[in-house]
Amino acid sequence: MDTSLNGHTALITGGSLGLGFATAQAFYEAGAGVAILARRAEALEAACEQIRAGSGHETSAIHGYVCDVTDGDAIVETVDRVRSDLGSVDILVNNAGQSAAKPFVEISDQEWQTDIDLKLFAAIRLTRLVWGHMEKQGWGRIINLLNVYAKAPDARTAPTSVTRAAGMALTKVLAAEGAPHNILVNAMLIGFIKSDQIRRRFEAADSGQSFDEFVAAAGARLPMGRMGEADEVANLALFLASEAGSYVTGCAINMDGGVSKVP
Ligand code: NDP
Repeated sequence: MDTSLNGHTALITGGSLGLGFATAQAFYEAGAGVAILARRAEALEAACEQIRAGSGHETSAIHGYVCDVTDGDAIVETVDRVRSDLGSVDILVNNAGQSAAKPFVEISDQEWQTDIDLKLFAAIRLTRLVWGHMEKQGWGRIINLLNVYAKAPDARTAPTSVTRAAGMALTKVLAAEGAPHNILVNAMLIGFIKSDQIRRRFEAADSGQSFDEFVAAAGARLPMGRMGEADEVANLALFLASEAGSYVTGCAINMDGGVSKVP
């Protein structure tokens, strides 16, 4: 199975931590030039260093870019910088996000707008900027990280369930438009995966447990008896980004160890 990414340039939003970090590490190892975007410079630098240091080779490049992906102008400027540092982007992973869920009547206009800007508009703007190159070269990959509520929204899961459902629709529109140009577009619907986000939840819970105990207890309630690992998400992302996934497009794949009952 060919999972090499030699000669490709990947842009991963939210690549400094969690699932984005694991994906950046896997793509770098597979030979891609990798650009990771996030708001905090320190975490970006630490991520780049850790990926370089942990790698068995130095043939590819990894750069961090401070960019708040809710800011349209910052996105345009950052993609320009990525192009001049690493070349045109032909793999885009729209991953940056954070949990946002509460009872519908309590969600303000501002909270709706923030969630839409972060989880939907960032993907729209970034895709628009990299699409032309992908189309011209007849090869491109876009992977959108969403969550299981995109297919199976529940009470108190807005605004995220709504923006994620829109992200799934966007994935399918782009897959249909991209297919004639060999631009493959897929989504991964995330369940519960260990990441910085889960660590923040653990800290807020102040449960008296260790992090490992907290994760084990939360995992025990899931169908497979455990939470997923960031590397397991990265493995699927690598499959989709590489030639291994060369005939897969328009899919919204549950990456949730069986949590969602909607296939
Ligand atoms: P983490 O909180 O561990 O990491 C989030 C990353 O996104 C960080 O690098 C963060 O860096 C970056 N980020 C957040 N907001 C912005 C922004 N406005 N602009 C640029 N970068 C931003 O999250 P996970 O790894 O857990 O989650 C990855 C994706 O998967 C998210 O979209 C999340 O909603 C989704 N998901 C995850 C689940 C899980 O169980 N882990 C469950 C369901 C969905 P910084 O703060 O410095 O900007």
